[in-house]
Amino acid sequence: MVLPSYLAILFFLLSVSLTASASIQESFVQCLNFNSEKSFPFHTSIYTPNTPSFTTILESSAQNLRYLEPSAPKPAFIFSPLTDSHVQASVICSKKLGIHLRVRSGGHDYEGLSYVSEIETPFIVVDLAKLRTINVDIKGNTAWIQAGATIGEVYYRIYEKSSVHGYPAGLCASLGVGGHITGGAYGSLMRKYGLGADNVLDARIVDANGRILDRAAMGEDLFWAIRGSGGGSFGVLLWWKIKLVPVPPTVTVFTVTKTLEQGATKLLHRWQEVAPFIDDNLFIRVIIQPAGNKTHRTITTTYNALFLGEARALLQVAKTSFPELGLTRKDLLETSWIKSVLYIAGYPNNTPPEVLLKGKSTFKNYFKAKSDFVREPIPEPGLEGLWLRLLAEDSPLMIWNPYGGRMSQFSESDIPFPHRNGTLYKIQYLTLWQDADINAAKHIDWIRKVYNYMTPYVSKFPREAYVNYRDLDLGVNTKNSTNYIQASSWGHRYFKDNFDRLVKIKTKVDPENVFRHEQSIPPLPL
Ligand SMILES: Cc1cc2nc3c(=O)[nH]c(=O)nc-3n(C[C@H](O)[C@H](O)[C@H](O)COP(=O)(O)OP(=O)(O)OC[C@H]3O[C@@H](n4cnc5c(N)ncnc54)[C@H](O)[C@@H]3O)c2cc1C
Repeated sequence: MVLPSYLAILFFLLSVSLTASASIQESFVQCLNFNSEKSFPFHTSIYTPNTPSFTTILESSAQNLRYLEPSAPKPAFIFSPLTDSHVQASVICSKKLGIHLRVRSGGHDYEGLSYVSEIETPFIVVDLAKLRTINVDIKGNTAWIQAGATIGEVYYRIYEKSSVHGYPAGLCASLGVGGHITGGAYGSLMRKYGLGADNVLDARIVDANGRILDRAAMGEDLFWAIRGSGGGSFGVLLWWKIKLVPVPPTVTVFTVTKTLEQGATKLLHRWQEVAPFIDDNLFIRVIIQPAGNKTHRTITTTYNALFLGEARALLQVAKTSFPELGLTRKDLLETSWIKSVLYIAGYPNNTPPEVLLKGKSTFKNYFKAKSDFVREPIPEPGLEGLWLRLLAEDSPLMIWNPYGGRMSQFSESDIPFPHRNGTLYKIQYLTLWQDADINAAKHIDWIRKVYNYMTPYVSKFPREAYVNYRDLDLGVNTKNSTNYIQASSWGHRYFKDNFDRLVKIKTKVDPENVFRHEQSIPPLPL
């Protein structure tokens, strides 16, 4: 049979690419064997596009469906290590063989950076999902947690040993601690205790030379850099040693919703003045979205809160500091800290805490997100303009998180995360859709316009952004031409002046830029 010429070319290219990835994979396995102390059948931990479970594994923890579309670049293979030394060998081998490597822990990266490389092919994914040991030491007030564990598993393992210990990190249970804490990690305990990254005591990483280093061995510069610079720039995080924090046996939660017709604009204006300065034990975030039907659409503002104490004490705080919210006893639910985790994460009432061990996400969507930090209350007309824009989009969502309290007591340079004193709150903008990529451009255009609209109301010089809400609109590295000037466009927004220190450390510890991605910290030229 004579194939039409374009089909023949396609067939040829496909077979060349399959052969190429087969040989990459073979060389990689050989190299792993050579660099491992114990022999191990590595081919059983490697998944190529020809392996039946490849797609299931690739999609398992990925959150943003945009990056699972057929048009998104796929890894030549996924390697799923079972031990720290397997991870170590994978870094040594990817460097030796010149194969670009992406690391995935929980797969929640907003721009899919842990499983898609838009700038370099071929690439491989080292998926740490099987490395999820958690050792809690209540007496020592610490825990060693492995990179592939979810934050929900960490909370559960702490709760299993004590009802009066917790850890201040993310609200969504399926976040992987490898990527999450590396970028900061905020949650409902942040006003009392700061971020997850503020509560790290030690770590073990594989560095660019393939060495496993703890805090003492890596030194204070690198230990500083890995607590807030975002994943994928300084090494592969294997373990964190975290500091546990006290939580009371009884905490109180509530959710109160106000629509525009119920005075939402005035109340939200007031929230901006109150929430960052209220009692440190109280965290009130606001979830903002349109609601209603075709004939009448409105904006709902939902006040979703955790108070570290009993309902009686909360009512007193609310009456004194935020009477406008009109909180009453029947709005409040007294519970334990672990159940408050489920409540804030949106699980139905009476869901057992064991659900946290499933590591399942309740989110998976097509989405685009952006972030801002606010330093002055937005005036009411500014809010009204925002409502008009939200009402024009299909499924927009905003989440406003109050700062202040302990967050303001850390200096901007204690860790790379710089959004501290003077920050009133952080805005997260999201637009979600279900219909694959058909209308992606329309939704992305919408969020960019809202972001433009917000310019006068948010932080300036730089306009700050949260690195854990990766936003490639802020700029990207290009292959072989990663440079300081280019990277400054996002680096100063994510890290302010800490960016320069991060670049210096990167230049020292990874001058060849082994760990890189679209927004990694660049080394200076040698
Ligand atoms: C539904 C949802 C809810 C969220 N809620 C919160 C929240 O409450 N608070 C908050 O602060 N953030 C939140 N985030 C953002 C989240 O913190 C970041 O997306 C974080 O990077 C996720 O880490 P991961 O390990 O799950 O993701 P991954 O996609 O696995 O990794 C993220 C980045 O880190 C790198 N990386 C992963 N593992 C390692 C490792 N072991 N060593 C070095 N680099 C690594 C990856 O290559 C990638 O660049 C949320 C995100 C989603 C999707």
